[in-house]
Amino acid sequence: MNSHYGIYGGQYVAETLMAPLAEIERAYEEAKNDPAFREEFRGILREYVGRETPLTEARRLSEHLGGARIALKREDLNHTGAHKVNNTIGQALLARRMGKRRLIAETGAGMHGVATATVAALFGMPCEIYMGAIDVERQSPNVERMKMLGAAVHAVSEGSATLKDAMNEAIRDWVADPDGTFYVIGTVAGPHPYPAMVRDFQSVIGAEARRQCLEKFGRLPDQAIACVGGGSNAMGLFAGFIDDSEVKLVGVEAGGRGLASGEHAASINGGRLGVLHGAKTMLLQTDSGQIVDTYSVSAGLDYPGVGPEHCQLHDTGRAEYTVIEDAEAIAAFDALCRFEGIIPALESSHALAEAIRRAPGLPRDSVLLVNLSGRGDKDMENVMRWKRENPPPAK
Ligand SMILES: *Cc1c(COP(=O)(O)O)cnc(C)c1O
Repeated sequence: MNSHYGIYGGQYVAETLMAPLAEIERAYEEAKNDPAFREEFRGILREYVGRETPLTEARRLSEHLGGARIALKREDLNHTGAHKVNNTIGQALLARRMGKRRLIAETGAGMHGVATATVAALFGMPCEIYMGAIDVERQSPNVERMKMLGAAVHAVSEGSATLKDAMNEAIRDWVADPDGTFYVIGTVAGPHPYPAMVRDFQSVIGAEARRQCLEKFGRLPDQAIACVGGGSNAMGLFAGFIDDSEVKLVGVEAGGRGLASGEHAASINGGRLGVLHGAKTMLLQTDSGQIVDTYSVSAGLDYPGVGPEHCQLHDTGRAEYTVIEDAEAIAAFDALCRFEGIIPALESSHALAEAIRRAPGLPRDSVLLVNLSGRGDKDMENVMRWKRENPPPAK
């Protein structure tokens, strides 16, 4: 199993975590090649999550734009409303197989915390979630959900009391009890083998979408587009098409108020090489190497780094990484609501906005596949607040 992606990735962790990481890698290699493990994973995805998720053609939106046909991979229809649960089920199954007693995780916007608490309840495992104290306040509905699902939520007041501080606390917890604890990472980041493992668990998205495109359109999509926070829904989608060189892969980062404003979450387009969360990767940092707090209207794109494999795909040119700012994501959100009767997550609205940009310039028989990573019910407050604060210019 590759521990590096070009110059990115690796294991930048305390010595005490090297053995636990090696143990996870061994266990995962075995599990991956065990038909019983794979069948159990598939069975839970089928009967609990509700997979496979459909591929929906956005007919009215495509017609309105007058160009490529836009097809949506409907991860919003998963139980819990997003793609994250695919991964937490995989890791919880692995934790149980390894004889671990409890699950821990950190969360920013709270979505990964909820997905972890969900599977902890499903498997009857105790669960502790670390969350920055400021995020606990900003994301109280998700905090309530986690508690309802039986998880303990620790508010972390250190540092800037946000995601990066919660990450440090979760790692500290893991160091204290690596034998009994499984650390569930929510995206294709962290030390090896997490980026590869999370990609594999999410690759069900790309595998299904590839087959569905062939069935529905009789061909592969011209482009596969996904938003990139840490990059797990994008890697899951890309995995299905990585060997199809004719399919363009497009990752969309959150441009917030614009790259020039410094208020964004675009680690590839606006970040620099550094070490975060146990891996070498592109991240948002100051000249002196301090991690910068990210900003986006979409809280789920708030990860200050990005998965190492994306950095390599960017360097080799296999995938392209663009930036969508708040206003364009909100416009795409509105468009999907009005034209298709689907309320998308604000994260996913970034991917959709990129497709809306591209579609008019493409032939009518071309296909843009967009990963609709989650549903937008959780974002109503945010969208309404954004619209209050950014009224359309008076005519
Ligand atoms: C968390 C989240 C994301 C961003 O995470 P990735 O690891 O980049 O996929 C995107 N969409 C939704 C709906 C999310 O909840």
